[in-house]
Amino acid sequence: MSYSVHRGRHLLNTPGPTNVPERVLQAMVRNPMDLSDPVPLAVIESCFQDIKKIFKTEHEIFMYASNGHGAWEAALVNTMSPGDLLLVPELGNFSTGWGEMAEALQMRTETIKGDWRQAIDPEKIRERLAADTSHEIKGLLIVQTDTATSVTCDIPAIRKAIDEAGHPALLLVDTIPTLAVTDFRMDEWGVDVAVTASQKGLMMPPGLGFVAASPKALEAHKKATSQRRYWDWSLRLASESYRTFCGTSPQSQLYGLRAALDMLLEEGLENVFARHKRLATATHRCVEHWGKAGAMELNAIHAAQRADGVTTILLNEGIDGAKIRDVCRDEMQCALGGGLRNLSGRAFRIGHMGDMNEALLYGALASVEATLSYLDVPYEPGGVTKAIDYLVAERKKNRDG
Ligand SMILES: *Cc1c(COP(=O)(O)O)cnc(C)c1O
Repeated sequence: MSYSVHRGRHLLNTPGPTNVPERVLQAMVRNPMDLSDPVPLAVIESCFQDIKKIFKTEHEIFMYASNGHGAWEAALVNTMSPGDLLLVPELGNFSTGWGEMAEALQMRTETIKGDWRQAIDPEKIRERLAADTSHEIKGLLIVQTDTATSVTCDIPAIRKAIDEAGHPALLLVDTIPTLAVTDFRMDEWGVDVAVTASQKGLMMPPGLGFVAASPKALEAHKKATSQRRYWDWSLRLASESYRTFCGTSPQSQLYGLRAALDMLLEEGLENVFARHKRLATATHRCVEHWGKAGAMELNAIHAAQRADGVTTILLNEGIDGAKIRDVCRDEMQCALGGGLRNLSGRAFRIGHMGDMNEALLYGALASVEATLSYLDVPYEPGGVTKAIDYLVAERKKNRDG
């Protein structure tokens, strides 16, 4: 007997890349066109307008043929100079990674130590900024949700802390796994630079990076002396698409983006957020039930800080998270995220962001439950039933008003 040939769909429950809807895939299957053809130009123009609705901003948008790391770099080199000091509250692998990138770009960083299970208290940020009377700190690098830990931080509370300290530092926010997943309001929340990428909530393949910049960030840009060319905002602030993209535009990606934006705007952002919140809550109910056997728990301690797009499951010492992930992907046909950096081997992650519905989530949760059983990991059976109970109750509430 052999299980080596796989039939049916392979489930993708990684917290990026995420599933791409057929409508987006179809929109991308198109030959490249002349760069000055009105067809791609109109798509580009409308994408620049409509992505603003997703960031909830009236400010400037820059798009790059890049992943999230490219957008990170664009945000840093356009607003900072070598030697500038950045404050980086520690939320997990990605806050640390963005700080490391700043160091590699000759900036200096200072972290506020975190425990990878909860967000940094905004009061600590306020204190540090208030102590910086010479305004040496030029910016804060904040990851809205650290996808490694599934901890989400409160951006308005951080803005308030900066304002209370009366500090002029720029607020730079990574919304890579949160844009079109969790509420984000660039202008209302006073965010100076927001960064995202295409392959998470935006439901596209990897390959597009986005940076939104406030007028204050554009002012800082004029004085920032970091070396840059491809990323340079000044060169890209042009009406001609060849300059906007610093060369040929990624046309197929943009056709895909157009379709994805249409889908998000048709659903309505409030509905998009509520859908993610429901799927996340169902996942939490399931994991909390499995955890009654004492071998695993939700990594994010505080319910209010738990991410809507991904759930990190922390395992007891001696349980191999990498093995769970490998078996779930290779044998059960459901791809999960692994534990990163400090959590390497000690966790696995269930992604539930983007083009995700209840059936796909049930598939993932049942695949994980099967994997736990197969590997003899202690778990309380029936987690999937808890997810069903919750989602059905929500549906009934909605049906019965
Ligand atoms: C996915 C992710 C990134 C990295 O994005 P890439 O496209 O892989 O470069 C950065 N930050 C966060 C919070 C992420 O979730």
